[in-house]
Amino acid sequence: MKARSDWEQMANSLSLRTQAFVDGQYVCAASEQTFHSINPATGKVLADIASCTDVDVDRAVKAARVAFEKGVWSRMSASERGRRLIKFADLIEANSEELALLETLDAGKPISDSLSVDIPLSASAIRWYGQAIDKIYDEIAPTNRNAIAMIRREPVGVVSAVVPWNFPLLMAAWKIGPVLAAGNSMILKPAEQSPLTALRIAELAAEADIPPGVFNVLPGFGETAGQALGRHPDVDAVTFTGSTEVGKLFLKYAAESNMKRVSLECGGKSPNIVFSDAPDLQQAATTAAWGIFYNQGEVCNAGSRLLVQREIKEEFVNKVLDVARSIKVGDTLDPSTQMGPIVDERQMSRVLGFIEQGKSEGAKLRMGGVKKGDVGYFVEPTVFDEVDNSMAIAQEEIFGPVLSVIEFGSADEAVKIANDTPYGLAAALWSSDINRVHQVADALRAGVVWVNCFDKGEMSTPFGGVKQSGFGRDKSLHALDKYTDLKTTWIHVDR
Ligand code: NAP
Ligand code: MG
Repeated sequence: MKARSDWEQMANSLSLRTQAFVDGQYVCAASEQTFHSINPATGKVLADIASCTDVDVDRAVKAARVAFEKGVWSRMSASERGRRLIKFADLIEANSEELALLETLDAGKPISDSLSVDIPLSASAIRWYGQAIDKIYDEIAPTNRNAIAMIRREPVGVVSAVVPWNFPLLMAAWKIGPVLAAGNSMILKPAEQSPLTALRIAELAAEADIPPGVFNVLPGFGETAGQALGRHPDVDAVTFTGSTEVGKLFLKYAAESNMKRVSLECGGKSPNIVFSDAPDLQQAATTAAWGIFYNQGEVCNAGSRLLVQREIKEEFVNKVLDVARSIKVGDTLDPSTQMGPIVDERQMSRVLGFIEQGKSEGAKLRMGGVKKGDVGYFVEPTVFDEVDNSMAIAQEEIFGPVLSVIEFGSADEAVKIANDTPYGLAAALWSSDINRVHQVADALRAGVVWVNCFDKGEMSTPFGGVKQSGFGRDKSLHALDKYTDLKTTWIHVDR
């Protein structure tokens, strides 16, 4: 791993991509307007980025539609599409230091995380679909003897993907892989806080021979570019990752336009339930701390509610506090840093506002609770104890490094508390009792349940939520369902 000074030097010589990528070319926004991209570790402007609006969306959708209709990608053999996606993934990997640095500067992630998690997982997500797509068969249905009924998957057409800032490239890659593998054209809108990696990989897609118009990137604001993608009459599907509030807007946009299909990966308030018979309390405590403090707590499935059984509560919370105290918060270019700043000033104020609310509602602040330093938007790892599940800090997705500890007695009580939020993205439980593991895992309303671990998964496992965490799944072959339609061709046969 490079030293801090090497990263700094590399940062000073970066040339940033700041324009939209439409029909195979970098272009200014039609309005020629730009917005600032900020480094949250310093508060300084990194670049002025093209601010796309409905005119740019229209241009990109037209390019995507033309490419789709021409069949340059949509009718290419699956193995050739796969080969080019694998090349795209290889190029991401070949440029991983630059991409990691962009992610760190733009979104405030510690450089070790960007380099060891975000970029390699993004490349492997795209590669996985490249490798899978020519191994999927269509179906012949069982019918009467006078028919042959073929059931085939067809790409839906033009897909827009609107993604958040917490894992800018990775959340995009979870869309890009299956959308493109299935033969669609797409328009990606990164979050305004973190457009740099999406813009950089656009030219890598072109270098991987993904034809012009098939992969377009439009940076811009949600209310303008995002809304225009949601409302465009010639977009066939929107795939969204972000807040529940904005997810609901996409349903409205679809209803008020062309009934485009919508899939939503939204927020969470995941319970992490520790029973007194957890196999290894120290490991559970370390995992619980990283389950909330990893990525500054800006993780949709963060274990933000820690439910601990009464008899071990004090001992367990002390272990969690010990781990939290050891976390190194600070300079994002220092390879030993473990926690960076909150993504921007607005989000930092939101996090600090929840902390104040937690105090005023009577939770006991055991650690942190304040901004750290005068430069950038850092918040100290924060732990609230004696939280009641009805408090705002237990119900609302804070999206910052704030842990709410809630005590419980029985397994039934734990399940009741765990399920008592509007969300249902993920949940975890720690126990050595096989019966209890099955009973509780069954009763938890969540798209993913982890047992004696946290935040585990591979590309082969679907990810997504129930309730107001959304619907549709990223990752695995199931993600292809969102970007394909089934066509039945019924052929009459005389026999
Ligand atoms: P957000 O505010 O909902 O934004 C997500 C995306 O939607 C951004 O590109 C944003 O554009 C756009 N957007 C905002 N307002 C819009 C509008 N009125 N119309 C159309 N698009 C609009 O979410 P965020 O703050 O970036 O990200 C944090 C959220 O993402 C959390 O709730 C987190 O749980 C969720 N998340 C979920 C998953 C999952 O897989 N379930 C994964 C990661 C994150 P701007 O550039 O203008 O903001
Ligand atoms: Mg930024």
